[in-house]
Amino acid sequence: MTMPANVLTPDLIARLRAIVGDNHTLTDPDQQLPYVRELRDLYVGSAGVVLRPGSTEEVSKILALANAHGLPVVPQAGNTGLVGGQVPMNGEIVLSISRLKKVRALDPDGFTMTVEAGMTLAEVHAAADGINRLFPLSLPSEGTCQIGGNLGTNAGGVGVLAYGNTRQLVLGLEVVLADGRIWNGLSPLKKDNTGYDLRDLFIGSEGTLGVITAATLKLFPKPLEMATAFVALPSVDAALPLFSMAEEAAGQSLTAFEIMCELALDMVVKHAHNVRDPFTARHPWYALIEISGLKEDGNAERLMMELLETATERELLVDATLASSLTQQKDFWRLRESYSEAQRPEGDSIKTDVSVPTQKIPEFIKRADAAVAAINKDARPVPLSHFGDGNVHYNVSQPVGWPKGKFNAEQWKPIANAVHAIVLEFGGSISAEHGIGQMKRDELARIKDPVALDLMRRIKASFDPKGILNPGKVL
Ligand code: ZN
Repeated sequence: MTMPANVLTPDLIARLRAIVGDNHTLTDPDQQLPYVRELRDLYVGSAGVVLRPGSTEEVSKILALANAHGLPVVPQAGNTGLVGGQVPMNGEIVLSISRLKKVRALDPDGFTMTVEAGMTLAEVHAAADGINRLFPLSLPSEGTCQIGGNLGTNAGGVGVLAYGNTRQLVLGLEVVLADGRIWNGLSPLKKDNTGYDLRDLFIGSEGTLGVITAATLKLFPKPLEMATAFVALPSVDAALPLFSMAEEAAGQSLTAFEIMCELALDMVVKHAHNVRDPFTARHPWYALIEISGLKEDGNAERLMMELLETATERELLVDATLASSLTQQKDFWRLRESYSEAQRPEGDSIKTDVSVPTQKIPEFIKRADAAVAAINKDARPVPLSHFGDGNVHYNVSQPVGWPKGKFNAEQWKPIANAVHAIVLEFGGSISAEHGIGQMKRDELARIKDPVALDLMRRIKASFDPKGILNPGKVL
């Protein structure tokens, strides 16, 4: 552990306290606990003080003071990040945006809304729903993750196939810079070619360039019907032609195409609450397919039935169930969304978040299986994939019977390195949707194009010359 470059003295804490008030200045370690560790305890750090500002102006005052004294600040939203980007490691100031919760504007006819960064994703969904619109970003953590964190990490999830990732869902931003100045880039304009795109620099910057305090988001018409199928595949190879057929048949209406391996479903059925295997036998791979329709005319279901019939004829499916009610649709989604919770009781798990060109996913998974087996024949790969956007979570559970902690401690590096080597060989990315944080920082420095890295470092230096924003993350 290294001490922060400049020390947070009692006098500075008093000045910060004067900005946000007593109730929102946390110095007691017990109160700080939820802000200094993440949900899997992979990263447990410490904070000098946790501040919970209630307005953009308070964020601005905090950063101006921190910058003047060279105090490091870790911006934090719902603390659900998976690469340690939001965890303070060295007694930094934690700047929690969770009290910034106002809906600033709703424009159903313009299909936009402007919200503050601390709203949970579920609250953003509800606000959009209130004006009969859809905000399509969809993540298992939607009840706790906050939109500011989604923006900061350019989150992906299961809706990317049809609607794009977070970056594609944003029109404008309000950002507080490292020196406390506020950039008002909240604009609903879809066309604006007046120079460099600052918005896209902040999205995905993981709190290293500025603190996003509000955003103007794109909204969509709400689908009025949904056909959801859970299908069994004879092999992972069948996923590619099946996906291709589904895209051809449904195009933009194909709103999900997720695949998971047999062991993943096995763990879900064993450990998750309120789920049951939709089939009587086990199969090597499964897919969850969803087709949406803007009219309630049965067209989504017709398209799905045709797809399932043709796929069965072509032997791309061995079994299929089509949800016949909203409850059953939710049941199918729960099979996919319970995955993380269901993998936990199986012990240590090495997680990756990679992307490869979609047509290479089946081959990538087979190569990764072989590479993992060569390192540890008892390790248990549990891959699943947002297939439609090329994103694979190639996760590996510990061998049965190993003591807690041993697998992650001894084999995370060799296994992740072996998987990432195949990803790079396939022209893929080592972080598809979770970001870099602290987990992948050193690896990024090793593998990223040197010209890109140089540009990124110079952007960082110009936005945050004193290096106070989320030090030790990303770069
Ligand atoms: Zn994912």
